[in-house]
Amino acid sequence: KVSIGILAVQGAFAEHQAMLDGLGADTFLIRQKKDLEEAVQNGGLQGIVLPGGESTVQGKLLRDLGMYDQLKELIEAGTPVLATCAGLILLAERVSNDDRAYLKTLPVSVKRNAYGRQLGSFVTDAEIAHIGTYRMNFIRAPYIDEILNPQVETLAIVDGNTVAVRYKNQLALSFHPEVSEDARVHAYFLNEIVQGV
Ligand code: GLN
Repeated sequence: KVSIGILAVQGAFAEHQAMLDGLGADTFLIRQKKDLEEAVQNGGLQGIVLPGGESTVQGKLLRDLGMYDQLKELIEAGTPVLATCAGLILLAERVSNDDRAYLKTLPVSVKRNAYGRQLGSFVTDAEIAHIGTYRMNFIRAPYIDEILNPQVETLAIVDGNTVAVRYKNQLALSFHPEVSEDARVHAYFLNEIVQGV
């Protein structure tokens, strides 16, 4: 069984946990620094999930709780990470419409709340490379407005905007695969990124 830590300071962590548990992973919640440290010490951290929610709140809590540096180091050292929505913003090297950037491990620029208020939330079916057609739930989502390194692989484009990418050990999505019934994104993460690397 692979052991996956889900950042649980704010946002949609419970849904990710349910989905990964359903796929047979061994999940635990990372609520504080101790949870992360213990997992690393026990060799029980084969992957990390950064859920959706509010990136400004999550980013502040990561710093206040003293988890920021260790998380950044783990990702840079190759620990697989699945990031959705606010999680994508946390990873991004740059946020084009905000001064704040957070972990900066993913060489892309993102635009926060990129669909405005009217189109804040919507569902659409689109193709994800390696996975197939997938029903995507967007909730006040960001999109990727610039790719800053040619090694970043674009996995999905909706209306001309990049909404899913992979860069080495990092899989990042604008939308929310954890709210759907369709576990293929989480399965791809476990099979191809966690166990494939
Ligand atoms: N709008 C949120 C942010 O900027 C992201 C929304 C989400 O994660 N569903 O952090």
